[in-house]
Amino acid sequence: MSIKPLSGSNIVVDLVISAGFIITMESSGSVLTNHSVVIDQGRIIDILPNDAANKYAAKQHVHRPEHAILPGFVNAHGHSAMTLFRGLADDLALMDWLNHHIWPAEQRCVDSGFTMHGTELAIMEMIRSGTTTFCDQYFFPESAAKAAEKNFLRCRLNTPVLDFPSAWAQSADEYIDKGLALYEQYQSHPLISVALGPHAPYTVSDKPLIKIRDASEKHHIGIHMHLNETAHEVKEAVRLTGMRPIERLHQLGLLSERFQAVHMTQISDAEITRLSESGSQVIHCPESNLKLASGLCPVHRLQEAGINVALGTDGAASNNDLNMVSELRTASLIAKLVDHDATALPAYEALKLATINGATALGIDDEVGSVTIGKSADLISIDLSAPELQPLYNPVSQIVFSAGRENISDSWVAGKQLMNQRQLSFMDEGEIINNAKLWQQKIANIT
Ligand SMILES: [Zn+2]
Repeated sequence: MSIKPLSGSNIVVDLVISAGFIITMESSGSVLTNHSVVIDQGRIIDILPNDAANKYAAKQHVHRPEHAILPGFVNAHGHSAMTLFRGLADDLALMDWLNHHIWPAEQRCVDSGFTMHGTELAIMEMIRSGTTTFCDQYFFPESAAKAAEKNFLRCRLNTPVLDFPSAWAQSADEYIDKGLALYEQYQSHPLISVALGPHAPYTVSDKPLIKIRDASEKHHIGIHMHLNETAHEVKEAVRLTGMRPIERLHQLGLLSERFQAVHMTQISDAEITRLSESGSQVIHCPESNLKLASGLCPVHRLQEAGINVALGTDGAASNNDLNMVSELRTASLIAKLVDHDATALPAYEALKLATINGATALGIDDEVGSVTIGKSADLISIDLSAPELQPLYNPVSQIVFSAGRENISDSWVAGKQLMNQRQLSFMDEGEIINNAKLWQQKIANIT
């Protein structure tokens, strides 16, 4: 790294990153070799060959000759604060896990401090794993917003809505009102945005869903919801309402391009048509689905129907990590198994799920998701020089099928460097780990 302006240059810019490879994730699918990304005031203003980069006088010039630069990952679904429940209750089915372990623990433990410390732990892990945008859904989202703001990570907060009370709100109306107040508060924030996160069809009744639909239409904000996660959930919906959850949501008018359906392991051809016609988004969480034995999302079928599919880790209590590198590999591997077709979800398509498709699902693809002139400089650098990544025929293949999150060297959000060669720029690792240990003792004593 050098802060000395390059000789012979004339255009002063904040940052130039010169790399061995630039994986732009633009529709052409091209990988640029020996290119530089030029950044000023947080935005990408040029992409050009390394030997032409001296037309710019960089205040900072970062050289990553053995590395690939690519858009930071968009973790499109999670519950960050649940990192504090990581490993608390494993090897259980979804409803047993929720009813007998997670919901009782949440009733006893969750407050604003829990969300703050849990989200900070999650942010630390996510930066170290290449995530530059995370999409969250948890109680006390105002604390998650503060954690994201403090640590400069881009985030979408889907404020929770449930029919039953929690420490955060007493009624569905109160959940929605608090969510909309937070939306107003962060409406013009450069990194933080707020949408509504009704938990699931089986925990939110029609009246609040209609209110959520109206708020989404009025403010043009997203609706983020767990949907068709298990066969049991769909069967129960048919028993209680006479219809499958997607038909109910369709009749209530919730499905649109702003609707994000998380999981979708159970899906009929008619439901694929409903989602496709409405422009709804699907967020695939393969490792959580595997761990809870929920089922397998038919990614390839959804994509063939023109549905945008993004990728999320889900919470660390059901994964148990927030590692988008392993998540995109898992997505590719199980897509092949689901289709009995080794050509299903190839490496580049898997990487799209974790980058541009995530940005599209959240409606922020004009801002992030690809290395494109004009977009925010939300970038990561992956070191491809490690022995386990040799020889290097194809950097995309290497990232998806061979790399680990430990190979991610650097991270920038809006041009601000959050990690420099594995060193976090702003986070106090010792303090965050210590807070997690204190919560572990407290949770162990009261659960
Ligand atoms: Zn979830």
